[in-house]
Amino acid sequence: MSESLSAQQLLRIRSKLEAIITEQPETSAALSASAALQRMRSGEYGYCVECGDEISAARLAAKPDVALCVDCQALKDEEDEDA
Ligand SMILES: [Zn+2]
Repeated sequence: MSESLSAQQLLRIRSKLEAIITEQPETSAALSASAALQRMRSGEYGYCVECGDEISAARLAAKPDVALCVDCQALKDEEDEDA
């Protein structure tokens, strides 16, 4: 579990994710929110799914379902633009 997130921040993030799933079921937002909750349960939350780097607490607070660090996100955005 990421050390830069406090237990309180994690709780707040978890309720945000749960709210997204409740309020917008079957949307892509709900899908990525439940993936994030899954990572939280397995202790992988807060780490980039691509490279394993720690994602900053500020980034997680702003976008709780984020799965990529800024570097991997930038790479992905480039790929998406090329596609
Ligand atoms: Zn990464």
